[in-house]
Amino acid sequence: MVALDGPAGTGKSTVAKRLASALDARYLDTGSMYRAVALAVLRAGVDPADQVKVAEVADTAVLLVGTSPEKPGITLDGDDVSAEIRGPEVSLAVSPVSATRHVREVLVAQQRAIIADALDHVGGIVVEGRDIGTVVSPEAPLKVFLTASADARAARRTKQDSAAGRQSTVDAALADVQRRDRYDSTRAVSPMKAADDAVEVDNTDLDLAGTVTALLELVERRGLRVTG
Ligand code: C5P
Repeated sequence: MVALDGPAGTGKSTVAKRLASALDARYLDTGSMYRAVALAVLRAGVDPADQVKVAEVADTAVLLVGTSPEKPGITLDGDDVSAEIRGPEVSLAVSPVSATRHVREVLVAQQRAIIADALDHVGGIVVEGRDIGTVVSPEAPLKVFLTASADARAARRTKQDSAAGRQSTVDAALADVQRRDRYDSTRAVSPMKAADDAVEVDNTDLDLAGTVTALLELVERRGLRVTG
């Protein structure tokens, strides 16, 4: 298993998917689960900062997360929300929702079950998020913390948004990336940070293919060709 943590805009999702494909492993995007709960909160008309009501939504929302690196996808109460969870409303609501202790307890339990199932049935999984190496799977044999400068991350986010048909400017993307970094790394519950034994990879000057190659080398060096 590979734990891949780090802030928004590092290309983490693309890198994690390509790595999983190259390793014939499964893939889990834990951010999509926090985003889907944030969407459920918005759909229920609940204030994302209301921790009690947010916890109730997390208990009733039914999430199904795909683990195929080619086509992961996620449904909320049977509805495919893969595209909707990437929108600006959800990106704004997800920080307070993911800082809610109960939400994290519910989702971490689901994530551990998905990981155990993948290790049993396929032998490997690449899991991306903010707290995989520190909280979800501290026993992961390879933990990577992927970073890049805020400017590089904002530029990538803007490109990604326009490719997906969402309006965005570099300034707005930079503000969003910095706001979420601050929120994610200073929250009381499971703040984003590199595990003590994580390998830090800064890909400011690396493209996605170069990043995948660097991670594959780490996998090889750990003898994790078939992860487990
Ligand atoms: O990775 P992505 O940007 O989609 O994650 C959305 C948000 O979900 C993050 O900004 C963070 O607040 C939250 N998150 C988290 N823990 C994870 C994954 C994501 O708190 N393991």
